[in-house]
Amino acid sequence: MSLVITIDGPAASGKSSVSREVASHLGWSWVSTGAFYRGLAYFAKAKGIALESEEDLVEACKSDSWKVHLSAEKTLVFCDGKDVTESIYSDAVGTVASQVSQFPKVRKELLQAQRNCAYGVNLIAEGRDCGTVVFPEADLKFYITASGKNRAQRRAIEEGKSVAEVQESQTVRDQQDTQRKSAPLQIPENAHVVDTSDMDLQQVVRAVEEKVKDTLSL
Ligand code: C5P
Repeated sequence: MSLVITIDGPAASGKSSVSREVASHLGWSWVSTGAFYRGLAYFAKAKGIALESEEDLVEACKSDSWKVHLSAEKTLVFCDGKDVTESIYSDAVGTVASQVSQFPKVRKELLQAQRNCAYGVNLIAEGRDCGTVVFPEADLKFYITASGKNRAQRRAIEEGKSVAEVQESQTVRDQQDTQRKSAPLQIPENAHVVDTSDMDLQQVVRAVEEKVKDTLSL
């Protein structure tokens, strides 16, 4: 039986970096489930698919022309056989991903592929609804957050943009993600909440790993 740990949280809360590092220390697989929504967003934009058409987006989900691959460094996305991973992790694609992820049928269409990531392996899955919808029976759940300013500062450095600009788009994204009807971002029941505003990456990694060791007796 494979073990699953979920890490949910808002944009730029550090959940990707933390989950990647903890997975690497444990020797587990990890997936950034946002890659499914980012991949769809990239594909829809590239093919000129109407972003407001739920039916067209569902068809796009079924296309063989784009796919998600797990890797230790980043969750990869291929489109028309080309690795487009570098392009999908921009703030602009994140905004479109948040738009397309509002549609319940799109979420339903992408759900099984996310669950399949745990097939035959121990997995850390990070995203918005990993502990609530994708893996409600997960062995351990975390919710990682940080103040809006703090998160914007981190992403502004990564993207070479102003803090105000990043904070504005993150606020829109957070609102969309927490207020949508289908699988909104929320703290899963029994999740351990970690506020990372005053912590650096290594402190968060240590806090998560301590809880993992205590709870799963690893
Ligand atoms: O986590 P990341 O920033 O890559 O996610 C991009 C967008 O994909 C989020 O803003 C959210 O709208 C959507 N998403 C989601 N459910 C997930 C992961 C991401 O709706 N489990």
